[in-house]
Amino acid sequence: MHVVIAGAGPTGLTAAVELARLGARVTTLEKRSGPSYLSRAVGLQPRSLEILRPSGVADALLREAVGFSGITFHLRAEEVARLPLGFDAASRLWGLAQDRTEAHLETALTHYGEIVRYGVEFRGFSQDAKGVNVETGDGHLEADYLIGADGVHSAVRAAMGLEFRGRDLPGTWSIADVDAEGWPDPTRFQGFLLDQGDVLVVVPLEESRFRVISSREDALAALPVPMDIRRVRRRGNFTVSVRQVKRYQEGRVFLAGDAAHCHSPVGGRGMNLGIADAADLAQRIIDGSTDGYTETRHPEGARVLRLSERGRKMLNTTSATRRGLAIRAMKLGAAVPPVGRAMVRRLVSG
Ligand SMILES: Cc1cc2nc3c(=O)[nH]c(=O)nc-3n(C[C@H](O)[C@H](O)[C@H](O)COP(=O)(O)OP(=O)(O)OC[C@H]3O[C@@H](n4cnc5c(N)ncnc54)[C@H](O)[C@@H]3O)c2cc1C
Repeated sequence: MHVVIAGAGPTGLTAAVELARLGARVTTLEKRSGPSYLSRAVGLQPRSLEILRPSGVADALLREAVGFSGITFHLRAEEVARLPLGFDAASRLWGLAQDRTEAHLETALTHYGEIVRYGVEFRGFSQDAKGVNVETGDGHLEADYLIGADGVHSAVRAAMGLEFRGRDLPGTWSIADVDAEGWPDPTRFQGFLLDQGDVLVVVPLEESRFRVISSREDALAALPVPMDIRRVRRRGNFTVSVRQVKRYQEGRVFLAGDAAHCHSPVGGRGMNLGIADAADLAQRIIDGSTDGYTETRHPEGARVLRLSERGRKMLNTTSATRRGLAIRAMKLGAAVPPVGRAMVRRLVSG
């Protein structure tokens, strides 16, 4: 069996590793000329590690990842609540820059004898009952199946003629990766509620290296507490869309990951959702049960979009009532441990 995958982000690489592990031949096309050095997603959920355990990728990730010890919430500079993380399997959350996750997936792929074809773009496809003909920047490929894991601006989705329903959120978010010394509680995930309904988070990436993300245009300028920054490794801006396709499949062609759905980084779920789509699809292709793919993964995508939007609206709000409720919930979680543990489990694994 031969499967062509468009896109070597975490979704495409997971699909490639899982298909190769289960015995399929895969061709992974990536339009970039080489591996990515962008560290967008950080949070690795327990379910993703479970999925990546049989290929050995989970162990490799855990050797490098930071295990978050807790979450601290602040209102501007003032601490309002501390919740624990890692007290049971469903509450463990690890941090690792996305480029490192991708590097470990790619190493596993080469162990199965497959490589990523960098600099080769997906251009189009035609299909019939027997297979798919894939047009690339380098010629044509015959395949049994095609997976579009080519991200938010998916060319596979466009070639399928599917609408990416949803909306673009107003405003520009910002991100910065920094080296900093003396940051208090360097293994805790720190969330800050700012004025005018804005939010900011500081996420540990490795010892003395942190990610700062904010709904404001300049994350470092928006920091409400001092940070002794020694080096800014990268900074940039991004906009947020909340969208999902109605169907993930058209005959022998499938969508997975950001090509099928996207949402705000609140809750840190995008990459984890893509990894789960990819693993489900790989198993279905091997088992010959692809017809249930949309029925299984679309509701899960819709659920995560709802959850992420609920969290974003609760934190990223100009309503004093909503914000007051969010702060009361955080304080309640900190004061009543069973409530706090339930909140954390939902946040991490829900
Ligand atoms: C600032 C920020 C922070 C985030 N934090 C988190 C987090 O903490 N946790 C989390 O789970 N998620 C997070 N996310 C979301 C996460 O980064 C994405 O959900 C994830 O990258 C999606 O993976 P993907 O493989 O589906 O798509 P992508 O990572 O976008 O990969 C798609 C790949 O396809 C390639 N491609 C595109 N077109 C073609 C073509 N025509 N032919 C061949 N190749 C093509 C692209 O070059 C790219 O390499 C964050 C996102 C942002 C922006």
